[in-house]
Amino acid sequence: MNLQKLAWKPIFMRPEAHDAGAPILEVAGLNVRYNGTMALEEVSFHLNRGERLAVVGPNGAGKSTLFKVIAGVLAPTTGQVKVAGGSPGRHICISYVPQRTQVDWTFPTTVAAAVMMGRFGKIGLLRRAGRRDWEYVRECLSVVGMTNLASRQIGELSGGQQQRMFIARALAQEAELMLMDEPLTGLDVPAQEDIFRVLETLRAREVTVMVATHDLQQAAERFDRVMLLRHRLLGLGLPGEVFTTANLQQAYGGHLHLIQADNGLLAVSDTCCTGEPA
Ligand code: ADP
Repeated sequence: MNLQKLAWKPIFMRPEAHDAGAPILEVAGLNVRYNGTMALEEVSFHLNRGERLAVVGPNGAGKSTLFKVIAGVLAPTTGQVKVAGGSPGRHICISYVPQRTQVDWTFPTTVAAAVMMGRFGKIGLLRRAGRRDWEYVRECLSVVGMTNLASRQIGELSGGQQQRMFIARALAQEAELMLMDEPLTGLDVPAQEDIFRVLETLRAREVTVMVATHDLQQAAERFDRVMLLRHRLLGLGLPGEVFTTANLQQAYGGHLHLIQADNGLLAVSDTCCTGEPA
């Protein structure tokens, strides 16, 4: 997936007005099948503005599928997604960051130009990016601490810088719902902390953030609520309510070992699941 492809959608559609009284995200009775393979089954939930949700589940649980449907890049088999009361395909307020491996980092573009792509929906088809837009992009890069990397090719960024560039792009887009698919995977602790610091900026702007992660402890400590997914929604709420032994065993099956550590219950999985329901 290249960055331009992600940017085209907002240019060619007429954005839908927000219903101020509606939750930022409502998912109702969502089912997704790929040629007979069930990825999501009867998933229903809603999120409020400014919430930070960690989405946890084994490989193949349907996390990426859920994000794609919410972002409007994949149509559900049945069920409904509403963003601020309207259809996701008609909104420019959603910023979707796919897994790093899904992005074509060889695409020849600079960091500033990639962040500007986030602004296309605001600029519209009939106008070129002007001085004010470039200033806005520079401000967004400054928020994520990447001013000095503005003219760097995107393929030369480290993993943490790539994620911060995407956050700058969401800021440029003035996104209200940000979906990040495993942004922390493969990053060292300082790079992860940089991301969390920058995510605080989004919280101050009341941006709702959904992050897919494999790190249960980080999910429990750094997010407002957690979602446990294995095709079906096994739980959504405070970590203490959701990360129960029964729920974790249902999610990870026989591959999960629960270890009582100093600071709580640790879930350790050494094998990937098959993606089949428990
Ligand atoms: P996760 O992000 O939690 O690893 P995915 O959403 O990628 O899970 O996948 C959910 C299920 O859907 C898996 O069984 C996966 O093999 C299947 N799947 C995902 N994408 C496709 C696709 N494009 N075609 C067929 N099956 C797919």
